[in-house]
Amino acid sequence: MDRGTERADIGDHMPYADPKRKREQAKGYREAHRENDRARKKANYRLHSEGIKAAHKAYRATNQKKVLMWRRTHRERIIALKRIYRSAHKKEERAYRVAHREQFKAYTKAYRKAHPEKRREIDHRRRARKLAAHGSWSAKDLLVLRGILGTQCLRPDCCTPTDRVAVDHIIPLAKGGSNQPTNLQLLCLRCNARKGVQRIDYRTEEQRRKIFRAFQLPLFGAA
Ligand SMILES: [Zn+2]
Repeated sequence: MDRGTERADIGDHMPYADPKRKREQAKGYREAHRENDRARKKANYRLHSEGIKAAHKAYRATNQKKVLMWRRTHRERIIALKRIYRSAHKKEERAYRVAHREQFKAYTKAYRKAHPEKRREIDHRRRARKLAAHGSWSAKDLLVLRGILGTQCLRPDCCTPTDRVAVDHIIPLAKGGSNQPTNLQLLCLRCNARKGVQRIDYRTEEQRRKIFRAFQLPLFGAA
């Protein structure tokens, strides 16, 4: 309907008395002002986010069954949205994990205890990845590595002493790194955990050269 006539109508009689016409009018208005409406809602949310969040929380608390049902029927959509959010906030997620390391550790421990089946599956997958990785190393190889790399954590600004040292895969197994001694370095447990699945080589050029000589030419060296 033409907006001009609509306006003119208002003066003559009650334009909204007919419910059908009223609905149509409202719908037309919403469609014409969708962008404005969105901006207004956003601004309103920013202004009252605390109250809105509290109201949502209260709703969820009193309508647990409804919420659960909704989540169940919209599972795919929720997973997709979470994935998008997480890939856009990788840095924040990592920082959060580092800041809440103890909580995560406790959570993992509790989860492993409560889900023995899942735990076995995860451990199995990890072992399979290790087996599938090229190469292997022995306790003797580790001694050779210690001889070259020393017995302190290799990360430059860390000086954790000898006892709590982890064998770290420079290129993580999860990223297709090998299990050969040439892909290993010695880090403390903390630095090993912090490195995660990043690819960082803390060895000096000299150490790298020595390791490759010690492990890549065993036939010549063994005589
Ligand atoms: Zn360290």
